Amino acid sequence: MRSKLKLNLIDPKAMQIVETLQRKGFLAYLVGGCVRDIMVDHEPKDFDIATSAKPEEVKRLIPHSYLIGRRFKLVLVRRGIHQYEISTFRRSKGPEDDSETATETIEGDNYYGNQEEDSKRRDFTINALFFDPVKNELLDYCDGISDLTKRVVKFIGEPDVRIIEDPIRILRGIRLAYKLGFSLDPEFRKAIIKNADSLALAILPRKREEYLKILKLKDPSLVFIEMYDLGILNYLLPSLNEIFSQSDLLNTFNYYLKMTKNSISSHSEPIDLFSSIIFAYIKTDPELSQLEFKDLEEHPRLTKFMKDELGVFKLESVHFLKTLSFMGALTKIDLFERKGDRRKNAFLSHPHLKLANELCLIDNLIKYSDYYHWKDLIENRKPF
Ligand code: ATP
Ligand code: MG
Repeated sequence: MRSKLKLNLIDPKAMQIVETLQRKGFLAYLVGGCVRDIMVDHEPKDFDIATSAKPEEVKRLIPHSYLIGRRFKLVLVRRGIHQYEISTFRRSKGPEDDSETATETIEGDNYYGNQEEDSKRRDFTINALFFDPVKNELLDYCDGISDLTKRVVKFIGEPDVRIIEDPIRILRGIRLAYKLGFSLDPEFRKAIIKNADSLALAILPRKREEYLKILKLKDPSLVFIEMYDLGILNYLLPSLNEIFSQSDLLNTFNYYLKMTKNSISSHSEPIDLFSSIIFAYIKTDPELSQLEFKDLEEHPRLTKFMKDELGVFKLESVHFLKTLSFMGALTKIDLFERKGDRRKNAFLSHPHLKLANELCLIDNLIKYSDYYHWKDLIENRKPF
């Protein structure tokens, strides 16, 4: 394991932010996922920066930045596909913070601290490395380098405590292990099994964000199978848990998830990512798979899976159901050909059509030649 990082993987804008903060006399480091990813030669998708500067100071110094967060204020900078999150060093809230003698800076719910405390409040040792790209210096307060070498995802501190503090860390850890091809530390696994029911307390918006990140992985099925094996799928996605307990249904689910995921055009739009798992679920569930797509609207089983378990927004489920409703029309090319130009144009301009065409092919509702015919019409659309 190298001690110096491949500087060419560091985004120039992230470097610039760190340099600006340091020039003004603050400490500033790249932290978390980006340092971890660069250490294992993955290209980071976003850059987190930790600094001794307070959020308002950061906002003043960094152009086009804005403050976000209610409990913990962060500064966000967006540039093209990249996002930069700048947070002030903070420490985890200890029992002494409630006493009247606490002397540290507490502003609202921000418990500011130094860089070592900031490293230790993080979830996993491999997520707690600090890197100074100006000095090309790596700070490792939690033995992260050793765990990166061992390729293991390990909690900082006591796994039981860290899970109870924030059960979403279970999902973060499992996802991270699959993303990097690492294993979960045996103590982490034990703690997951022991505290599986803590996930019942995790709030839906945070679970939703994790599911979306899981669905971006190359093979999300493996993560769901791991969740089933660890006994947590039942607390998270009970509808899937039912499927996973029967191997023939599991095979069907995996097949459709893989096929749909490979054909969706965007791996960043939530609705496209969710479409893959929802379509796989519909095709696998013994009851839903027997229904016509038009009868799925407001079906209680489907609504429960989408809304209550995955956290799909109302507008997104409308979009998805609309996509399903377009599938029937795509099987009737001759009907389309008989339409007038104005109606043809209106039909082809529909935003759901592309995904509907993909789903039709996966579902064997149309032949390859028809699929390509539609694809050509949709993608190279010139007004009739
Ligand atoms: P990725 O962006 O690839 O999902 P990441 O590790 O960068 O992975 P972020 O959600 O961007 O994940 O978080 C940035 C850093 O913040 C993490 O690396 C970790 O140090 C810290 N962090 C995030 N979530 C938690 C949490 N629930 N508990 C403790 N620390 C966390
Ligand atoms: Mg990140």
